[in-house]
Amino acid sequence: MKKQFFTLLCAAALCGCAEQAVKAPVVAAHRGYWKCEGGAQNSISSLTNAAAIKAWGSEFDVWMTADDTLVVNHDAKFHGIVLKDAAYADFKDLPLDNGEKMSTVDQYLQKAKEFPALQLVFEIKTADDLSDTLYEARVVPACVEAVRKYGLLDRTTFIAFSLTACESVARLLPGQPVQYLNGDLSPKEVYEHGINGIDYWYPEFYKHPEWVTEAHELGMSVNCWTVNAREDIQNMIDLGVDQITTNEPTLVQKQLRSF
Ligand code: MG
Repeated sequence: MKKQFFTLLCAAALCGCAEQAVKAPVVAAHRGYWKCEGGAQNSISSLTNAAAIKAWGSEFDVWMTADDTLVVNHDAKFHGIVLKDAAYADFKDLPLDNGEKMSTVDQYLQKAKEFPALQLVFEIKTADDLSDTLYEARVVPACVEAVRKYGLLDRTTFIAFSLTACESVARLLPGQPVQYLNGDLSPKEVYEHGINGIDYWYPEFYKHPEWVTEAHELGMSVNCWTVNAREDIQNMIDLGVDQITTNEPTLVQKQLRSF
């Protein structure tokens, strides 16, 4: 029933664009490819594994410590330590799930240079309530400079839940791919903030399938997260998103081979 309803929504969303073939999306490994032997999210090995399976990109999350070190981690805390309030030395020797140490952004980007075909989907993390504007004012330019330093701007997409962080990246790097994550604005509203892409939790596209076409008509890129089930993967493929961010990159690749 859900499938039939969604098919109708897709048809309605694509109405008037029937002559446009839906293009196959590419696959971004969410926090790298870590669902394998010895894997850990957001680790150097997850980056290497994403390259090994020929994913289009590796997504990763970045925080900045109180002493200005950019580190790769999803959660705000690591072993109970609030990363943005801590010194790097406070946690640098503590292990990830697989025993690796947490990667700095320098280490991550240095490794990424070994994989020239791999795109980087660089998430700038900010406080959940977006209250720490001083932090945001520090972290955004530091992230931009880190990618510039390693010569990787040409294969990096920046993503953030913070609208102001996305606006800042777009202002610092005109034309750089930037995708807003929060899902609360239409593509047109995001575009009006100078941001050229969206990366939304996939159920937002069940509510608003027309957003894919709306974004494309504005020249914006469309990514979605975190799409792990076959039916949802297929629905996002059918809808014509540009990228699928997933914990199951090999499953998405398999479905795309039959596209
Ligand atoms: Mg992320």
